[in-house]
Amino acid sequence: MGKYRKKSDLVFQSDLLYNATIMKEYIVFDLEWNQSPYGKDTSVGAMPFEVIEIGAVKLNEQMEKVSDFRCLIKPQVYRELHFKISEVVHRSMEELMEKGILFPEAVRAFESWCGEQAVFCTWGSMDLTELQRNMAFYGMESPFSFPLLYYDIQKLYALCREQGKERVSLDTAVKELEIQEDRPFHQAFDDACYTAKVMKCLDWQKAGPYFSIDYYRLPHNRKEEIFLKFPRYDKYVSRAFDTKEEAIADRKVADMVCCECRKTMRKKIRWFPSGQRAYLCLASCQEHGLYKGKIRMKKTENGQVFAVKTVKPVDEAGAEEISAKKEESRKKRSEKNRQRRLEKKKRKGEMNEKNN
Ligand SMILES: [Zn+2]
Repeated sequence: MGKYRKKSDLVFQSDLLYNATIMKEYIVFDLEWNQSPYGKDTSVGAMPFEVIEIGAVKLNEQMEKVSDFRCLIKPQVYRELHFKISEVVHRSMEELMEKGILFPEAVRAFESWCGEQAVFCTWGSMDLTELQRNMAFYGMESPFSFPLLYYDIQKLYALCREQGKERVSLDTAVKELEIQEDRPFHQAFDDACYTAKVMKCLDWQKAGPYFSIDYYRLPHNRKEEIFLKFPRYDKYVSRAFDTKEEAIADRKVADMVCCECRKTMRKKIRWFPSGQRAYLCLASCQEHGLYKGKIRMKKTENGQVFAVKTVKPVDEAGAEEISAKKEESRKKRSEKNRQRRLEKKKRKGEMNEKNN
């Protein structure tokens, strides 16, 4: 599975990756999972979702199907299906117990079927996470290279779609593309087949460079931090920090580097919070003009935070927008502070009254 080798100071040019001459094989896979039938209180923390089925198709570079994989898994954690799950996945616990194999065995079979040239493709970003979380539960080491780049077909479909850029369900995409619906949805293998059919309809000249980065495993240190160059923006993924304040104070997180000449730019508007988990900034390169920076703070598995920063060129109107957002953010903060002061005063007044 190790197409992308481990390197220090990783710089990936996404369109070069897409156009690379090495033989590619696409592994389009889908998982079905179960969850605690009695709600969150009885959920097992390390495994909120137990994988019960793996379905996959292997495509060659022309996106033709060359092989398929399907496997049911014998549940070990939740011995009853959650009612919502049994409604959609068309499986029964009896069937899983009878035809399923143990998860570690299933993953090893899947892994060897995948082979060395795998480019993973999934509908949405959850399947790789849940697969790895289940592996961690069983103490299995990740077989994937780091960083793990994959295609989120749901994202790519939104990118190529004419009617707006929002993510839609697989069922919707299949309908919109007028793909023949000859099998039910929500069985792992069938959904993988549909996803593969959607892939065949995508404009790969456009979509090809837009790899997604798997965030289940994060950079452990500064050297492992990820830098990926897309046609219209640069993306950086930091290591984990205890708090978002600590993350935004890190020089490498906060630096704005020109997408063209790689020089550190001067900031015209310094990072300011925009919403709960994001920060914005504006910087300029003397030679290459204005750039917008955006940082999204995301939670790690163990409650720390990491930063995903994108840097992309903007015109004057884009710059104006950032400065308007900064003004808005400033107003919000001063209003919040005013409220806080009022409340403090009120509390003080009440205390005095009590004491009198
Ligand atoms: Zn520059």
